[in-house]
Parts: sequence; C-alpha cells; structure tokens
Amino acid sequence: MDTLIPTTSATDRAIELEWQYGAHNYHPIPVVLSRGKGVYVWDVEEKQYFDFLSAYSAVSQGHCHPRIINTLIEQAQRLTLTSRAFYNEKAGLCVRFLCEYFGYDKALMMNSGAEAGETALKLTRKWAYKVKGIPQNQAKTVYAAGNFWGRTLAAISSSTDPSSTNDFGPLLPGYIIVPYNDLNALEDAFRSDPNIAGFMVEPIQGEAGVLVPDEGYLRGVRDLCTRYNVLFIADEVQTGIGRTGKRICCDHEDVKPDLLVLGKALSGGTMPVSAVLASDEVMLTIKPGEHGSTYGGNPLACAVTIEALKVVEEEKLTENAAAMGEIFRNRMTGLIQKTDLVKAVRGKGLLNAIIVAERPQFGDETAWEICMKLKDNGLLCKPTHGDKIRFAPPLVINSEQMHEACDIIEKTILDF
Ligand SMILES: *Cc1c(COP(=O)(O)O)cnc(C)c1O
Repeated sequence: MDTLIPTTSATDRAIELEWQYGAHNYHPIPVVLSRGKGVYVWDVEEKQYFDFLSAYSAVSQGHCHPRIINTLIEQAQRLTLTSRAFYNEKAGLCVRFLCEYFGYDKALMMNSGAEAGETALKLTRKWAYKVKGIPQNQAKTVYAAGNFWGRTLAAISSSTDPSSTNDFGPLLPGYIIVPYNDLNALEDAFRSDPNIAGFMVEPIQGEAGVLVPDEGYLRGVRDLCTRYNVLFIADEVQTGIGRTGKRICCDHEDVKPDLLVLGKALSGGTMPVSAVLASDEVMLTIKPGEHGSTYGGNPLACAVTIEALKVVEEEKLTENAAAMGEIFRNRMTGLIQKTDLVKAVRGKGLLNAIIVAERPQFGDETAWEICMKLKDNGLLCKPTHGDKIRFAPPLVINSEQMHEACDIIEKTILDF
C-alpha cells in the first residue's frame, strides 16, 4: 500500500501546524474555517456552519459582503497607505462621514479597538490638564469592574480578570475601579477625588458575559459625568454600529457620551479600523505630532469604513438586529420552559447570551461542551466566563435563518 496516504484530517493538520509554530495565546473551538458568506462559514472539510460569534461582532455586515469587498479591492488597486505625513483623498471623506453619522465634531482614526480606547484615555488626560485644570500627572480615570477593552498594558491596567493581568505588571497608575451598574459607587468615587477626568464604560459588557445594566444606568452615568465635570467615554467597540438594535447602544437611553470609541464592525470584518469621536473642546487638545499611528486613517481603511457604514444604513441592519433579537430571545425563553440546563437569556438586539447550569459530568466545562456539540450540529459560538454562551450572529441574518439556528440550539441543548 501507498505509505503517503495522510492519516490525519485537514482539520487536525491545520490545528497541529498552528499549535507547533504559533504562540499558545488562544484556546479556539477546534474548527478550521476556510471561507464565509453572509451568516455562514465553511471549514476545510466543506462543512457549513452558522457563525454566531461574528468575530466578536466585527463581521456584523456578514462575511465577505460584496459591496465592502468590491470597495476593498478597488481601493487596494489604487492606493493603500500614505502615512499621515501626507494627506490622502479618502481620510477627509471618512471622518466627515463618521462625524455626521454619529453626531460629533471630530473623529480620530486608529486601527485596533485597544488603540482607540487608549486614544480616548490620552485625550481625556490632555483635556484634564488643559481644560479641567487638574495638576500635572494627577489625572485619574474610572472604569467599571468586569470591563474589557483589549490587551495592551493601558487596557489590562483596568482589568479585574486575573488571567489578563497575572505576571504582566507593573500596571498603569491613575486608575479607579467601581462596580458596574452601580451609580452610587460611581458618585462616591467622583465625590471623593477632584482629579477624576473620565469614566470609561461599556453600555453592555460583552466579554463579561453580555451584562446588561439596569434601565437608567446610562442616563445616570451621563448626569453624574456632567455634574462632576468628568468625561463620559462610551466603549462601543462591540455594542456600536447597530449590534444592539440602535445605532449605538447609548441611544437606548438617548444619552450622548463625550467620547465615543468604535472598532470591530467599522470595517465589516475586513481589516482593523477603530475611531474615537469627540467634541472640538476635547479633540483639539491634541496638537500635531502628539499622537498617531502609521496605519491610522489610511485610504484603504477609510474607503472600506464609509462603505461598511453605508451597508448598515441602506440594508437597515440596525432595525433587523432589533427584530431578529426579539425572535432569538423569545425562542430562548421558550427553551427555558423545557429544560433546566438554560437558566436565563439576556441581551439587546443581536448581542445576547444564555446562562447554563452545570451538568455533573462536565462541571464548569458545561458551556464549552455545549459549544462543541453546537459545532457538530452546524452552529459556531464561544463560551464566555464559564457558564455563559454568547450568541451574536451577523446582523444580516433573516428570520428563516434565525429560526433554523434556534432549532439547532434547542435540539442540541435538549439532547444534552
Ligand atoms: C474587542 C473589544 C475591544 C478591543 O478591540 P481590539 O480590536 O481587540 O483591540 C475594546 N472594547 C470592547 C468593548 C471590545 O469588545
């Protein structure tokens, strides 16, 4: 017999290769994807799946959206990067689009969400010294426990998750942590320290397991920030751009943050693009040469961002997220009646999670084991914080696809 017949699958070979040569900084679901279209992805064995993670909400417009991909190709063939040493013809169009779409004076473009968060922090500190009048190097920023805004040192310095910070110290000073969804604690912090410049918060905490604060929290945050002259920084990297059924999640309570941090779906999942939006009073505290990024505001990113936002608008993806989210939560509420394995469902729009009970044979791996079975049954998602499973499909999902996906979830859970 021919000895060259491979004994392992294409999936196993790809996983082994990555494990051998890649850093071990992730623990993926063992599926190897090779292509995607809309709400679907296919693995290297051509098995089809619903993508119910959407790259943590970056692929909100659906995989390989034809309009976004066409714009990407056309711009890539024309001009990709100039650095900001020169002007490029797309940057102005993009920041104007962002400002008009989200209602701000100015936008500053970066690449990853963490960089945008750090940009917001630097703007807040500049504003603290130049406008609020806090003594040099004394500015403090407040964060909510359970926050997640990336993996840079500035971002992990506010983390309350030991696996993010262990052995990475020393961390950045000037940070204060308050409980999430607790206006009294926030006001106590503001009252006890005159050097507080900003409060950065996710309107729904994604990584923490889709934690939705009480109604009125965001309005309360807005009021306290105004009253104590503290900048309200909304980290909408995951919740923004239609994901929760509103343009930004803060729109649910009709509040306008002073700084709006966006990322992920800004480029429809094609490349890292992030941005901070703010008023002139805040943004113009940074002068030429004081902040930037080689790739920030590059013409490829700018062209793609405009198209990605137009797709959200013209395909009414925000409205669709609201309607499909209703279907999802109704189906999961129905499922809760049929099994004690699912304890609760929560979320807004198409950012949702279920909380699962532990099964003795799986212990705290129960959510992971459910995700493995969902994968076998054709739906991809990922557990977060042990007992929660986040479901965040692309916003282009239709009701037929949503019911089919809910059928898979229901069957998988009831079989468990
Ligand atoms: C993903 C995320 C970030 C970080 O974005 P990266 O592009 O991974 O750096 C920041 N904030 C929130 C709320 C996120 O979900």
